[in-house]
Amino acid sequence: MDAPLEEKVEKRFQGVPVAQGIAHFPALVYYTEDEEILPRDIPQEELSGEIARFEAALISTRIELLEIQRRIVSAIGAKDASIFDAHLLVVEDRTLIDEVLRGLERDHCNVEHVFQQVVQKYCQTLESIDDPYLRERVVDIQDVARRVIRNLLGKAPLNPAAHAQQHIVIAHNLSPSDTAQFDRSLVHGFVTEIGSKTSHTAILARSLEIPAIVGMQGITQQLRIGEDILIDGYKGLLIVNPSRETLIEYGRIEQEKEEVAERLEQIRETVSTTRDGRHIALSANIDLPDDLGEIAAQGAEGVGLFRTEFLFLNREESPSEDEQYEHYRHAAESCLPHALIIRTLDIGGDKVASSLAFEHEENPFLGCRAIRYCLEHPAVFKTQLRAILRAAGIGHVKIMYPMISGIEELRRANQILEECKQELASAGIPFNPFVEVGIMIEIPSAVLVADHLAREVRFFSIGTNDLIQYSIAVDRLNDRIAHLYNPTHPSILRMVKMTVDAGKANGIWTGVCGEMASDIQLTPLLIGLGVDELSASTALVPRIKKAVQSLDSGACESLVREVLAMDDSNAILEKSRAMARENYADLID
Ligand code: PEP
Ligand code: MG
Repeated sequence: MDAPLEEKVEKRFQGVPVAQGIAHFPALVYYTEDEEILPRDIPQEELSGEIARFEAALISTRIELLEIQRRIVSAIGAKDASIFDAHLLVVEDRTLIDEVLRGLERDHCNVEHVFQQVVQKYCQTLESIDDPYLRERVVDIQDVARRVIRNLLGKAPLNPAAHAQQHIVIAHNLSPSDTAQFDRSLVHGFVTEIGSKTSHTAILARSLEIPAIVGMQGITQQLRIGEDILIDGYKGLLIVNPSRETLIEYGRIEQEKEEVAERLEQIRETVSTTRDGRHIALSANIDLPDDLGEIAAQGAEGVGLFRTEFLFLNREESPSEDEQYEHYRHAAESCLPHALIIRTLDIGGDKVASSLAFEHEENPFLGCRAIRYCLEHPAVFKTQLRAILRAAGIGHVKIMYPMISGIEELRRANQILEECKQELASAGIPFNPFVEVGIMIEIPSAVLVADHLAREVRFFSIGTNDLIQYSIAVDRLNDRIAHLYNPTHPSILRMVKMTVDAGKANGIWTGVCGEMASDIQLTPLLIGLGVDELSASTALVPRIKKAVQSLDSGACESLVREVLAMDDSNAILEKSRAMARENYADLID
């Protein structure tokens, strides 16, 4: 008789949903270096099992290191491979191994926790000694320790390229560079322990159109590689071993979502005009060059924000002028007859490119980021501006500077732009000298001087992700204070209004390209505030178009008159949500 199959119990975990969709694939649990391993009690009789696991992990790590050494010898020769001799010594270091064994006997807890504690203490001691050789050894020890811990935990290294199976990524945290490397045909979603809705990692998930959940604390300790999981990016749920009933339920939900998508497909070719005839331009945010194909397919009117920094991530050297020109030209052609708004490099904050020179900063979001970096590194800035000016000779390209805080920065950036035009002209290289220049409004000081700025630019695009972060002083990445990150805070609505009013008084248009533009619960407010353009992740454009077409701009303006007098952000949100529900309930989750 066959043995009964082991019953797998369904378990559910709740996090914060940041990208919609449902995915059902095996988990790929990443181990990252900053992950802290929690202690777990181990009874006396199981200690020998812990020691055996430790020995096996040391052996596996030794085999891995020898294999890397072998590959390096065959690729570049024995000299460079000798750097791994120091790594190999670590797995044989008797002092370290004995201390772990003593720690196990003393603390009776899981060996990975004891090992991590011992390694941390070891490294702290070495770091405090004034000897460059010993300090260098700290790096070797940390690298080997990561390998040993991964082997103990049975987890994968954070190297998405190394996994050929379809999966859902489970990680403590993911940087935008990690996420940008995902292979869409293999990675069907991700769940992280920390993170926030407006981090660039979450923004990328929406671009990649994969469900994503953040803030699921402790999840990397709960799952093992290969476990059967389903993630629900609408509700922020992760379900381990989903039961038959759960799978049937999710099959039904997916079918409903498909029906909504089919209905939206039908309005693709229509214009984004309110019921009473006000046109709201609807454009796409492009985060990765691969997204270009979707612009027209989703019915967007060109690109309102091309985040060029992703061309600079995950590479040894910055892209040359010619390489950037090819990207921008291709993007501009994909948008025709509509415009492509190229945002100049917004590097810094949570996007650090190893190809660019960066000094460590205590507060990178308040530091040398975006236009500040470019003005400090004119060679990098000029390379990009020349490439954009050349592409503008072919397509309908506009330039947008990020993080402008006042008029001096704008004028300095424009002065460099003029120098680039002169350089191209003297070299006889074709370009468009009349390219339109606009700025992002994402710093409160820019809002307060929007009347000055409006006289010297052709458009404003409000970056609400940063505007909220800098106005309410709430780190957009910090999940502990996510409840303070509030788009309907009365101050934010007033700032959007001040910007729009300054734009109108000076005859220029104002758009919104932050994530607020994607939230269809807030569309009534943005239309009522007088915004002329909304730019959002390409996949979300059809939903926003449907929302715009369902609303009456006069009613939105009355709503705004009412909420501008209100002091409670939740009550304001509720008012906007009520109008959204009244007009397009089927789209509100
Ligand atoms: C913003 O700040 O709202 C914005 C669109 O730019 P980013 O998210 O890239 O900082
Ligand atoms: Mg920004």
